Parts: sequence; structure tokens; C-alpha cells
Amino acid sequence: MSDLHQTIRELFENSQNIVIVSHIRPDGDCVGSVLGLGMALIEKGKNVQMILRDGVPSSFKHLPGSDLVIRKPNAPYDLSIVVDCSDLIRTGGVLDGARPVLNIDHHITNLNFADINFVEAESAATAAILTKYLQQWGLSITESVARNLATGIISDTLGFRTSNVTPETLRLTANLMDTGIRLDDLYFQALVQRSIDSLNYWGKGINNIQRDGRLIWTTLTMKDRKEAGYTGNDDADFINILSGVQDFDIAVIFVEQSGKRVKVSWRAKAGWNVSQIALQFGGGGHPAAAGAELSGKLEDIQTQVLSATSLILTNQANDNKQERDASSTNGFGDR
Ligand code: AMP
Ligand code: MN
Ligand code: MN
Repeated sequence: MSDLHQTIRELFENSQNIVIVSHIRPDGDCVGSVLGLGMALIEKGKNVQMILRDGVPSSFKHLPGSDLVIRKPNAPYDLSIVVDCSDLIRTGGVLDGARPVLNIDHHITNLNFADINFVEAESAATAAILTKYLQQWGLSITESVARNLATGIISDTLGFRTSNVTPETLRLTANLMDTGIRLDDLYFQALVQRSIDSLNYWGKGINNIQRDGRLIWTTLTMKDRKEAGYTGNDDADFINILSGVQDFDIAVIFVEQSGKRVKVSWRAKAGWNVSQIALQFGGGGHPAAAGAELSGKLEDIQTQVLSATSLILTNQANDNKQERDASSTNGFGDR
């Protein structure tokens, strides 16, 4: 076993009071990773505080352990673990500025903010990293752990259809299925089931679609949210619809927030990389999916973000062409 795995195993063995933290605006990988690792440590007899500043969204309340999640630590701890976060700001300040001991993540933009940084950017989900290594780290994958981890993998891969899904992602999921979980059920809960309000909200997003060349974008204002009766402050996953529209390379969504803030999400077709542009705007993510939260007027942010995104379309088109010219015999055509 490598030194790093041995170190993590010993950390788990030697700590009794453990805090696990993930990001604000929790998604399925965030919730599934906190609960999957948390339940595995609880089953090992540890005292675990599972922390999400924004709590567990209603769509993930069916997951084992979700009722144990609290919004900030309420007891002392000797080990702090951050999962599925590329930077500490995204935890929403729940660790009060303390440096975490362990950072487990799959974002290429991860800032290595902890004492021990276990970052595998090629992994499709943080939950896939946990599935791969939990046993080496001395923990067991029971059915309740597996339900959480499978939800993380299903969510971040949009049901195994993102470009970073590998045979290993499927094998790891198959190992989780061996514990007896119902993948169809978890899939339905994580990705298919929608409220009527969110469909009304999608309607607003459809009405607001704009395009320019290979770029497509839409805006969801607070007024849209109110009129639709949608109670979340996110895009209700509308970006996944927008990014499926034909003949576009990059999709962007602007979601107006209170306090003059705007959440921006980027999605890119294979061959493009939007992680660096998100980083440039103070956010982060993956080559194909990234996000940032910006302060300012919606219109100003749109102008800035759209012109910077158009620029990467131009620059990366040149890079992609050079790569194609250099390897024109690979038989797969372009991108
Ligand atoms: P989203 O657009 O929020 O669905 O996020 C797409 C990807 O970018 C996810 O992997 C997020 O974890 C990441 N991401 C989104 N917002 C931020 C942010 N403000 N800082 C760092 N990473 C982010
Ligand atoms: Mn996440
Ligand atoms: Mn993730």
C-alpha cells in the first residue's frame, strides 16, 4: 500500500471525532460523498459530524444518514475532512478558517488547501474515488454506504453520459450494486424526478435562450423564480438541457441571486475546456463543467462572461485545429 493510503488509513484509525464537510449549493456528489464516507466511519464506531452549510436538498432526503446532516460543527473534533470541494471558500466558512487535515476531490482546479490532498482529477466523481479506496482505508462499503456513493456517481456523470466515464467508473458502480442497492431507484431520485415548479422554471429558461456563433446561453432571474414558484436558488439543472442543444460548443447559464450576486455555470462539448475560465472568475470545476459565483449587476456580468467565453472559443478552436493537424491520422476525425 502506498504511503498516502497508509497515512489516510492511520488517520481514520487514530481519530475518534471527525468532521466531514462539502460545498454550498450541494449536488448529488457532494451529498453522496459526505454521507457515504460519514456512514462508513459511523459504522466503524466513530463520532462523525456531517456538515453541509445549505443542508440536504429535498431531492436527496431519501439517502441513508441524510437526517444526521447539520449546518455547522457543534462539538470539538480531531479530524476534519473536506470532500468534493476545489477550494475552501465553497464550504461556506463552516470550519471557521481552520486548515482541514484531509481534502478528497476530483476537480482539476483543486487548490490543495489541506495538510493531505488526495485529488484524482480523472475521476468522474468524488464518490467514485471513495468507492475505489474506502476498503484500503480500513472502511466497509455496506448497502447504506453504497446507496450514497452510487448517487454521487450517477449525479456527477448525469447517469453515466459525461465524457469522463470510463470502464472503471462502471466497474466501481457494479461493485456498489453487489451490495444489493437498487440503481434504478437511485437514478430516478437523483436525475429523473422533477417538481412541476421546476418545469415552469425551465420554461422561463427556454424563453430566455440566446445564441451567438457556437455559444448558447440563458438567464434565470429572481423574478422568473418567483413567477414559477420555484423555491431553490439554482438553475434546477436546466444547464443539462441547454448543453444538449444541437450545434453549440459551449452553454452558459446566469442565475440571478439576492445581494447582487450571479451564479454562472458553463458546460462544454468534448474537446473544449471551461475550467480555467471559471477559475479566472473565482470559481472552478472540470474541463466540461464549471461554475462561479460573481458579484455585480447581472447585465455587466453577462457582458464580461460572454466576451471572455467567446474568446476561449476562438483560442481553443486554434489549439484544437493545431492538435488535429498534428494527429490527423487517429481515424476519429475532429474533437
Ligand atoms: P455547476 O455549474 O454549479 O453545476 O458546477 C459545475 C462544476 O463546477 C461542479 O463540479 C462544481 O463543483 C464546480 N463549481 C461550480 N461552482 C463553483 C465555484 N464557485 N467554485 C469552484 N467550483 C465550482
Ligand atoms: Mn459537487
Ligand atoms: Mn463532484
